[in-house]
Amino acid sequence: MGIRIQQLRKQFDDFTALAGIDLDIHQGELLALLGPSGSGKTTLLRIIAGLEHADAGQVLFGNEDATRMSVQSRRVGFVFQHYALFKHMDVYDNIAFGLRVRRGQARWPEARIRDRVHELLALVQLQGLERRYPTQLSGGQRQRVALARALAIEPRVLLLDEPFGALDAQVRRDLRRWLRELHERTGLTTVFVTHDQEEALELADRVAILNQGRIEQLGSPAAVYDRPASPFVYSFVGEVNRIPGRVQQGAVQVAGLSLPLTGALPASDEIDLYVRPEDLIPDQAGGWSATVVSTQRSGARVRMRARLEGVGDEVEVELPSATETYATGQQLTLAPRRYGVFSGQARD
Ligand code: ATP
Repeated sequence: MGIRIQQLRKQFDDFTALAGIDLDIHQGELLALLGPSGSGKTTLLRIIAGLEHADAGQVLFGNEDATRMSVQSRRVGFVFQHYALFKHMDVYDNIAFGLRVRRGQARWPEARIRDRVHELLALVQLQGLERRYPTQLSGGQRQRVALARALAIEPRVLLLDEPFGALDAQVRRDLRRWLRELHERTGLTTVFVTHDQEEALELADRVAILNQGRIEQLGSPAAVYDRPASPFVYSFVGEVNRIPGRVQQGAVQVAGLSLPLTGALPASDEIDLYVRPEDLIPDQAGGWSATVVSTQRSGARVRMRARLEGVGDEVEVELPSATETYATGQQLTLAPRRYGVFSGQARD
């Protein structure tokens, strides 16, 4: 089921947590809500779940207006960062919980509940652990139980709030891959909150980037990384160099180089050029003259700082370690192969 969010607003006293969100979440997609702390991700997720109410705007589940619907009737599965498993119940009972609290006609016979729990144990690869208690599981296993519990009620939508946030880096990476595979098998519309850009880019079909209660950009991981729509997205998703310049006669003049203007014409003539470290290509025609200030090998990459001649701006460059290495003090040219142009920030 798809979800349509229209003009959603939420205020906490005089603080605007959501400042008018419009978002179409497609049926069957895995959408990541990515943004810094306080940007409104959790508030948006909680409003979709029905745990919080918006001050204005609408949430549609398919064609149905869910804005005033109770949490129960929305039929959403929810997983939080901090394992909300019942400590006094074993894995089996935790997973069965949502099915056992149903009343009347909706209540399944125990045999059907057992089949469903076993199906879910297989899905989250925890067969054989059904009699363990949460304290007898690793963090990653607990989150898989939490996911199985959320899936037990056959939710229409799965909502995940930093589900791997409390786990260490390797476990996070493994669970990320595992969640992606699980998503492909279940095909459930899924919304995933994270402040970890790597997680969002690796996991999601589309990423919505939030900043101060607004969506700055919505697009595929490749689109938000390769074609950031704003300076904020440039620096929040990946790394970027900012070099001041001017627009003159339809071109940008930056540190002595004239470059074609890409994208929309900025509102002011004073602009900033945004270029990622890996998009500065050494020793290619059409580049800035520069001097290497420092170099550092970091795993499979080489990081280098270089000073642009004439203007003195320093830039970060990233190269695959297999390429030619450069020594401190060496002269080279650096050509921007891809960049963005936006109105300049206040000059200091
Ligand atoms: P984080 O990654 O830190 O969880 P977030 O992007 O999920 O951040 P939210 O939790 O949605 O952000 O919070 C957005 C803003 O709203 C924050 O500044 C937060 O302090 C504020 N806020 C959230 N809930 C409440 C509340 N119940 N009362 C007052 N302020 C709140």
